[in-house]
Amino acid sequence: MSDNSDSKLPPTVSAPSETPTPDHNPKPAAADTAAEAEPPIARATAAPYVPAAKMEFGKHSAPAWQLPDDTPWKQTWRVFSARVQSLSDQVGRRLTQRTLKIGVSARIFHPEAGARGLQGKTLQYLEESIAQWVMSRDVLVLMIPTVNTNGLLHPSKIRLRDYAKHLDGLVLQGGADVAPQTYSQTATRPEWIGDSARDMYELELLHEFVEAGKPVLGICRGCQLINVAFGGTLYQDIASDVPEAKSHVNDLYDSHRHTIQFPPGSSLASMFPAQTPLVNSIHHQAVRDLGRDLMIEAVSEGDNIVEAVRHTKSRFVMGLQWHPEFHRAGGAELLDCTPILDSFLRAARETRF
Ligand code: MN
Repeated sequence: MSDNSDSKLPPTVSAPSETPTPDHNPKPAAADTAAEAEPPIARATAAPYVPAAKMEFGKHSAPAWQLPDDTPWKQTWRVFSARVQSLSDQVGRRLTQRTLKIGVSARIFHPEAGARGLQGKTLQYLEESIAQWVMSRDVLVLMIPTVNTNGLLHPSKIRLRDYAKHLDGLVLQGGADVAPQTYSQTATRPEWIGDSARDMYELELLHEFVEAGKPVLGICRGCQLINVAFGGTLYQDIASDVPEAKSHVNDLYDSHRHTIQFPPGSSLASMFPAQTPLVNSIHHQAVRDLGRDLMIEAVSEGDNIVEAVRHTKSRFVMGLQWHPEFHRAGGAELLDCTPILDSFLRAARETRF
């Protein structure tokens, strides 16, 4: 190895090691040690080594990586700029790409009188397909339990406001009837008293998310609740209150379907090219008087029963009377509501701070 390196050394570099003249040329010692450590080709073609401490700009030829008029300050500035750019990219990624956390309101199972075991307990649950539909866009779904700040057994300082603060959007699940007393009416039949406990919980939840400027998507009961929250009222029973209306519910539950229409100028009309799409719509209550600042986004074809509403003063607060989460399983003829979900999640992404 030393034979090779010696044979390729230029005479000007190898000569000083044999006749050391350190006073005239500071390079030989360094060149000599480098001859043992570095590959010969690198030594043979490299520029003469100059210790960093002795570098003087403008007094020697710059290394190849250096720009012609470079100075230490310019290099430092570039290092600093690259670091700042890298940090701001990291922050940007964190802001825009953090996995969204979507809260889903709980369905509530009230204890049955005299029941034993779990059915004697209050259960809070979510229906599988609503969670899976929302998760299909790669977001986290968390069910929001009711809070009982006055509870004697487990007092807590956590409020629904805290959930609105930490989650990026709210989905109001379908479920039991909205109680007529929630919109200052009395139930015309005992079986239509609805679930006022769930109303109170979801009204507060909706209020907190709207206050936080975060998007809300109401499904079925959620659509009716949004209308009531803004001062609207409901038909307690479509078949009794609007006898000419077609059937909006039957014993087949999620296989019940009908066509809808989007009013001109509605956001859904611009979102969907289909004129009279088919939806899974299963409900015996419906929006009667429209709440403040709400706009009708869809109606049932033929009887004009309200099928979707949107709050015009919010970035995204929309209620759908139908069940988009059942559509994939229901068949290709049902309206693909992914654009609505994406619109909701886009609002969640843009309003989360
Ligand atoms: Mn319907």
